[in-house]
Formats: sequence, structure tokens, C-alpha cells
Amino acid sequence: MINIVEENTKIKNVSGQSDKHWEKYRLDMLKSFPSPYRNENDTLALAINKAILEIDNLKPEKSMGSAFLGTNSELTIDFEKVKQSSLNQMMNKPEIVIEEVIKLFEGLPNWGHPLTMCNVNPQGNTAAIIAAILTELFAPNILEGEYAWNIHQAELESGGILANLAGWVSKDSGCVYTYGGSGCWTYQLKYALTRVLPDSRNIGIRTDAKVICSQQAHYTMLNSTDWMGLGMNNIIRIKTDVETNAMDTIDLEEVMKDCTAKKIPIASIVCTMGTTDANAFDPVKKVRTLIEKYPNPEGYGKTLLYCDSVIGWSWLAFKNYDFTINPLGFSDTVLPYIEKNYNAIKDVFYADAFGVDFHKTGFSPYISSVFVYKNALEFESLLSRDSSVYLQPRSP
Ligand SMILES: *Cc1c(COP(=O)(O)O)cnc(C)c1O
Repeated sequence: MINIVEENTKIKNVSGQSDKHWEKYRLDMLKSFPSPYRNENDTLALAINKAILEIDNLKPEKSMGSAFLGTNSELTIDFEKVKQSSLNQMMNKPEIVIEEVIKLFEGLPNWGHPLTMCNVNPQGNTAAIIAAILTELFAPNILEGEYAWNIHQAELESGGILANLAGWVSKDSGCVYTYGGSGCWTYQLKYALTRVLPDSRNIGIRTDAKVICSQQAHYTMLNSTDWMGLGMNNIIRIKTDVETNAMDTIDLEEVMKDCTAKKIPIASIVCTMGTTDANAFDPVKKVRTLIEKYPNPEGYGKTLLYCDSVIGWSWLAFKNYDFTINPLGFSDTVLPYIEKNYNAIKDVFYADAFGVDFHKTGFSPYISSVFVYKNALEFESLLSRDSSVYLQPRSP
């Protein structure tokens, strides 16, 4: 920091020559960007390599160090003073900025360390981390084809893979990448409200439609109902089984009967498929039967069935696993649980949509979540607009 102060003073001393000032600024600024051309002294790769080696120095020695980065586990933020900050009038050298950024990692949990026992924060794998970095370099923008070009393939293809895992017709399904399991929850609510209260996109939400989920459902239900304008009071929580933590379908049926009798529409029923604490899986197939049995009153669309599987989705990877031959040789202790979890998650088949957090059980860096829907034609036409839609396939 002292160096910068000195440098600042130096420049201030020559403040009469403002044109030279800008010249120096411009040269310094140019050095802060990667070159647009090959072999043109592009220091980015070297700088990234250097930064990674430096941050690696914060890792512990093998079988010795602690589960956090660096040597100081104290929280050093001065919460009293931290906001008394203002924009520095002078520019810093990139190396110094990078150094300061690396310092911020001191004391952070090391997610890959065997002693880190956090439930939903895996270390990203190398390919995922690099893919994430590469998209920072050239910033493909999925807003429209011209800005994303072939990189759009990654979205369509991974959506297809997930739909296939769910047993859906992948070419008829679709997906939207979003900011988290919370974003997925919000998308399901938007989908549900648009389907059940068709005029809500023009006149706003004027009906107290209900959103049903279990006592074990993630608290993001509050965000979604609040932010969407439906209101948190329109959530109905269903009892869960004390043993399994799964949604009690007897209680659910009572609630649905009551709504039918009172002519109250149900926007969506959310089945929680795996939770961070209890690993509860709700009975999706039974919920589907109940939706067919208790249709919404005349004039409202059909209740949406969403699976909040953002953490439990990865059990779908066992779709083609032969549990009898057990080719990967899982132990007798573990195998029955894998099979049980797979048999629970595979019922996302009965849902209209499900959510996936790659940053939880997909070894990917933040943020990497996707909302997968079964009927692309319905979802995309429900949310279409005659004029520009926010996201749309503008390319051929
Ligand atoms: C983590 C979680 C969420 C919220 O997801 P974020 O990615 O943190 O936004 C929602 N539902 C369930 C079941 C979760 O485990």
C-alpha cells in the first residue's frame, strides 16, 4: 500500500501536466487487459498461472494442515469501519489488486480438505473450474444466438441429458439456467402462476392461489412467494412423516379437498426431493394422482407439479446402474441406500419440472443451477410475448 501512496504523490506533484497524466493512465490501463491477438505479449495466462500458484500457497501441507486456507482463521474484517470506503482516485497495478484479492481468502474453509464436513459445498472439479474461467474470458451471452454462438450447445445438451435421466422425451423438454435452487423455485412459481392464473401476466396476481409444500421444504419458498407477489401467506405446509420426513399424503389430500370445496385454486405442489438435513424425498407419484383427482375449479389452469430436487438430483445418475451385478463394487452397507435414493428420485418423471444445483452435488463452482421443464412448447408459449421476450431463440 505504501508504494501506491508514494506513486500517487508523485503523480499529484506533476498535476500541471494533465495531458501527460492521461497518457500514462492510458498506457497503464492497456496493460490491464488481455491482448485481442495471439502471441501479442498476452500476460493473462501467465498472470492466471501465477495467481493460482499464489492461492495454492494458502493450502495446507498434506496430512498436516487445517481445513481452512492460510494460517489465520480469525475473521479480520473490521465491521465498524469496512463501509467507510470510497473510490480510490488513482489506479492500482493489476498484480497488486490480485494480491489483495488473494489475501481475502485467508481463513476461508478449504472445500476439498478431508476435514471439511460441510454438507452441500463440494470442491469443483478441474474441468468445471476451467470451463467457468473460460466463459469469463470471452463472455458468451445466452441472450441471443449471435452472442453465445456454439456455446449455446452446452445449455441445450445438458438440458437434454437431464430430461433423459428423468425419463422424459428430451427433444420436447427444455431448461433455463438460473442463480440457484432459489431461482429454480421462483421459476416453478412463475410457471405455475402463468398456467393457473392465465391473466396474471397482464393484470397481476389478483387471486390467492395456493402453493403447497411440506414442512421439510426449503425456506426459499418464502423468497419465491414474496418476490413473485403472490404473498407468503399463500403457502400451505403439509405435515411430514416422523420417520421418513416425507410429505404426508393423507394430510395433503385433506388440504386439496378443502381447497376444492372452497373453490380455491392451487398454483403448484412442490415435492422436496432430498434435503440438506433429513434427505427427505416426497411421494411424487402419489401427488400426481391427487392432482388428477382434485382438479382446480373452472376457469383456472392445471396445478403444476414441481420437484425441488436441487440436491437430490444426482441420484438420477444411477439410472442405468445394475444393482444386482454392482459393477462398481459398492459395499453391502452402501448399496441399498444408493438403490433406495435412486428409486425415490426417479419419480421426478411424474413432475412438470425439476431443479438441479450443479454447485451442490455436481462438483461445479457457483453459480450453476438449472430449471428443467418437461413440456417446452407449453412453458415457452405460456411465457412468450408478441414483442421481445427477455430470453429467446433469436438465432435460426
Ligand atoms: C439448497 C437448496 C435450495 C436453495 O438453493 P440455492 O442454490 O442455495 O439457491 C432449495 N431447495 C433445496 C432442497 C436445497 O437443498
